[in-house]
Amino acid sequence: MTDLTLIPGTGAALPARPYHARHLIGGVWQDSADGAVTERASPAHKVTVSTAARGGLAETDAAVAAAHAAFRDTDWATGPGKARATVLLKAADLMDARIEELALMETLESGKPISQARAEMAGASDLWRYAASLARTVHGDSHNSLGSDMLGLILKEPVGVVSVICPWNFPFLIVSQKLPFALAAGCTAVVKPSELTPSTTTMLGEILIEAGLPAGVVNIVHGYGDPVGARLSTHPEVDMVTFTGSTAVGKRIVEAAAGTLKKVSLELGGKNPQVVFPDADLDEAADAIVFGIYFNAGECCNSGSRIIVHADIAEALTERVVALSRKVPFGDPLHPDTKVGAIISPEHQAKIDGYVKAAQASGARVALGGETLRLDGLPGEFYTPTVIAGVTPDMPIAQDEVFGPVLSVLTFRTLDEAVSLANSASYGLSAGVWSADVSTCLAFARQVEAGTVWTNTWMDGYAEMPFGGMKESGQGRELGRYGLEEFLEVKSVLMRIGKTRSRWV
Ligand code: NAD
Repeated sequence: MTDLTLIPGTGAALPARPYHARHLIGGVWQDSADGAVTERASPAHKVTVSTAARGGLAETDAAVAAAHAAFRDTDWATGPGKARATVLLKAADLMDARIEELALMETLESGKPISQARAEMAGASDLWRYAASLARTVHGDSHNSLGSDMLGLILKEPVGVVSVICPWNFPFLIVSQKLPFALAAGCTAVVKPSELTPSTTTMLGEILIEAGLPAGVVNIVHGYGDPVGARLSTHPEVDMVTFTGSTAVGKRIVEAAAGTLKKVSLELGGKNPQVVFPDADLDEAADAIVFGIYFNAGECCNSGSRIIVHADIAEALTERVVALSRKVPFGDPLHPDTKVGAIISPEHQAKIDGYVKAAQASGARVALGGETLRLDGLPGEFYTPTVIAGVTPDMPIAQDEVFGPVLSVLTFRTLDEAVSLANSASYGLSAGVWSADVSTCLAFARQVEAGTVWTNTWMDGYAEMPFGGMKESGQGRELGRYGLEEFLEVKSVLMRIGKTRSRWV
């Protein structure tokens, strides 16, 4: 493994004392009534970096009650968009001012590289600013063509109390894809971060209070999916659940929310293909493939975990990808050059390795990696950049979300075959196509079942562009104007002008 680019432990000083994340309920920071806590150790360094209050039903119910009261009794929902935008803009400025602190905590809890964490924080504050612009420009519609005695108004109103349930892989970015849009719409919220990454969401609570958000508009409850997330999906005073996480839990939330017919929006897993045609710029494609699979150690819903390569170039492209993979600096997340950090937990590392070993046993070839690795000065979990060639569509590694730095290589001969392979997974989050021919790109983009399609690029994203999945990758959209619409109800108002209504009796 010496031919990989390894970054051993930097020996950088870790925070002297763990950060303590408390619940935020009705504007008051508090621990759980029973004093229960969870502890989080840095996956790379195995040192406790945070503790968090572990909430139960009592804390969850109190938080929902606070959000309900704030929705009903304050003018957050009904006041001018300008007031909401002012808070969101101030919050974005405060995030920028705390970017180093946020990025460090995100890195310590999740294992992601510090330089990437900094970029995510900057991306997050941009989302708060974009949502602020929507708060001032959101509007309904009118129908002036229903006759001179009728005016139709379409009003957009906030949905109400929203449960915001988030995963561990992009804790601050994902809450920022949801919460500012919900707030811009005039909703109030209860946020549940992952039990593995509680701290930056708590810091966000501190920021929102400093930005002037009224008490109770945003509440935060820490704890496990069951009971906190489960209660947030069934509570009768919750009007909507916005969830990002695994497809398995997403399905459970839909079932749980059915009892009260809550609106549910879901951002779930992916098994995202990049299709490469022989006329593509193969240097660009190889770089994007390496980025697509190793970004966030593959623990990314948008991970480009399958490449579907034209058979004529498959061997050459695989060699190129393997050579480039060896150059990707991976190791201590606190080193500024590191591009691939630690895996979130030993259990997850074992799951990743299980997929690799099963593929090998079914006849696939490990062209690179396929190993857990110990790095000098770092006791934590690391999985080598891994490329598996000769994968066939029936193998679990071609169908399931591995959520690790493991690339599967499949081959095709015709566009139809490439589309059929791309669409063969149950997921439909994102897809990419590489070709110099714009007609090929467009034909693929039109036929592939995915919420986002990249042509000759991978994983570009903008606050303006909606994001979400088809099939088992989710329902609803985040970002863009659609991201705001998710948090709005539509009300039709029909106004008769004068006494022109014909009597029924
Ligand atoms: P997860 O589904 O295990 O947990 C997500 C959140 O749900 C956590 O806060 C967890 O505590 C909570 N939860 C668990 N059980 C629950 C229940 N019964 N009811 C309510 N809440 C419950 O996911 P994870 O392991 O934290 O994150 C990884 C997954 O997230 C991957 O599948 C990944 O693809 C997906 N993801 C999707 C996107 C996207 O935008 N599509 C983005 C990032 C991550």
